[in-house]
Amino acid sequence: MTAASRLLVPVAVLAACIALSDAAHDWAYDGEAGPEKWSHIGYNQCSGKRQSPINVVTNRVIRKHFKPIEFRHFDQIPREMNMTNNYHSARATLEWDEIPLIGSGGLPGEYEVINFHFHWGRKDFKGSEHTVDGESYPLEMHIVCQNTKYPELQDALQHPDGLAVMGIMFEVSEANNRAMKRLEPALRQIVKGGDSVAVEEPPRLLELMPWNTNDFYRYDGSLTTPNCNEVVTWTIFLESVKITEKQLELFRALKRNPVPIGRNYRPPQHRFGRSVFLSKPEEEDSVVFGGITAELRNDARPLRVPPLPALLAMLVICLVGR
Ligand SMILES: [Zn+2]
Repeated sequence: MTAASRLLVPVAVLAACIALSDAAHDWAYDGEAGPEKWSHIGYNQCSGKRQSPINVVTNRVIRKHFKPIEFRHFDQIPREMNMTNNYHSARATLEWDEIPLIGSGGLPGEYEVINFHFHWGRKDFKGSEHTVDGESYPLEMHIVCQNTKYPELQDALQHPDGLAVMGIMFEVSEANNRAMKRLEPALRQIVKGGDSVAVEEPPRLLELMPWNTNDFYRYDGSLTTPNCNEVVTWTIFLESVKITEKQLELFRALKRNPVPIGRNYRPPQHRFGRSVFLSKPEEEDSVVFGGITAELRNDARPLRVPPLPALLAMLVICLVGR
């Protein structure tokens, strides 16, 4: 990375923060400014025909064999991570030496990570924005990525292929989620709306994600908050990530001054005939994150065994190397 492009990273992150920030607090998740009213209070796009989230009806999805999503630099520890209570959510903004990127996987371009944030409810049976056959998860994380062909977020927000968002579902478990544990001190310090704090030991993005990223739902949608721009290619992973009840309570304690945010999920929107694809490739397409092993993860799972030709090649290299 050149000195100039290194300088551009914080500038781009700052621009993203400003553009996605919630200078206007006029919309809400209930009452007169609740989701059903967003299009009446100036956010016209919220009544469009490509809105998110949606309810995924599993017996109506279309099986499609997308290539695996390629993840680059997701195993990197962020140079800096700030967690902010932006009155609507807890949002992490990041600085990197090498910006994480996603591509392939049927995405209409290459996208770089600009932030991640969370949606939750007051009780465990509600919280996620996307639902599957009407069922909710208690928490949904969104990793927001911007198409690299648009230099500015403002440009990306004007184009149907501008953003790609990955939705990650969380389920309650007693098992400790180590990556989430690293966010705990910051979550405790951003109880008031507008609070922002640095995460002392930021986790790798990879550690916040499910192990299996090959199986996902895909559809064309929008931002789930005003202005509801219809510019998002959505990826919702089938495998969920674990979170403890105590960690969920940290999200539920966040306030919008003076009351708790409480819930910050938009209800599912009409599909208007849009297709929802399911990608569930066979084992041989499995993606392994740049040599990262299961031990980095909170719930260590068996490592995938490389296919036979790869094993034979390793054996040959091993013997020749002697
Ligand atoms: Zn979101």
